[in-house]
Amino acid sequence: MRVKILGSAAGGGFPQWNCACPNCRGLRAGTFHGKARSQAQVAVCADDRSWFLLGASPDLRTQIEGTPELQPRSEPNHGGARQSPIAGIVLANADVDHVLGLLLMRELQPLRVHATESIRRILSEDNSMFAMLHRVPGQLSWTAFTPGTTFPVLNAAGEGSGLRGRAISLGTHFPAYVSPARQSGLKSEEASLGLIVESSSGKRLAYMPAVPQINGALLKEFDSADVLLFDGTFWSDAELIRTQGSGQTARQMGHVPVSSAEGSLSKLAGLRCPRKIYLHINNTNPMLNEAGSEYRQVRESGWEIAEDGWQFEL
Ligand SMILES: [Zn+2]
Repeated sequence: MRVKILGSAAGGGFPQWNCACPNCRGLRAGTFHGKARSQAQVAVCADDRSWFLLGASPDLRTQIEGTPELQPRSEPNHGGARQSPIAGIVLANADVDHVLGLLLMRELQPLRVHATESIRRILSEDNSMFAMLHRVPGQLSWTAFTPGTTFPVLNAAGEGSGLRGRAISLGTHFPAYVSPARQSGLKSEEASLGLIVESSSGKRLAYMPAVPQINGALLKEFDSADVLLFDGTFWSDAELIRTQGSGQTARQMGHVPVSSAEGSLSKLAGLRCPRKIYLHINNTNPMLNEAGSEYRQVRESGWEIAEDGWQFEL
């Protein structure tokens, strides 16, 4: 399985358009020791032909243009000039930062979206703009999965990709734009998921961009993964409150912070997973600063901090 990290930042990206935190300010001024990042996007492929997106980032268009493997090939015998190696999408939640990219793929390209029934209903029944993805028969096909069940990852034509998926229920909060009336009819365990993607040879990628708490069952899952992409949104619980002057803690937003005794760096210290990578990093997170002590602490603990454009095989 080939894995590409097209975007590694949390919602808003780095820098964020309306943010003058020390990180964003420093990056704009050219004095920051670290890299700009686009909003989180991971792509996987098992056959060098068909790519599947984990989520659909608001930055997807520029991410595709920066990634030759995801660009259309000139194959006159295979559908003319309008085609894409992107065959489908697997959704972990209905957050705007995770689904807005679907609307950027509205140009009548056949695609399959794997999602829970709750997420499908939020997007396609409550949001009229998503009708642009259903203008012609076979444009966008939905395939439902339930958390805990393994499912084959299929292309638009319903053919197998060599990849299997399985979702783990992580959080019970739907995005704020979902009305209370709609939420009352949905299954809360389908709100926020982690995804396990497994190749035919049994290699496992764990994609966990929003983890509110770490328990024993999760530790077991991570131990059996070959690569763990884990929630690196916030360094500390009160980080966003300090930056904004008000708001929610990291945990209230569904993200276990990296630091502190109850943080992920400490709770995941004993993992046997060979490669641990923080992803979905908020622009306020001090570990983005490669000259800082937080960055050094993470790297010395055996973790990597994802950057846009990284790729690996497993
Ligand atoms: Zn900022």
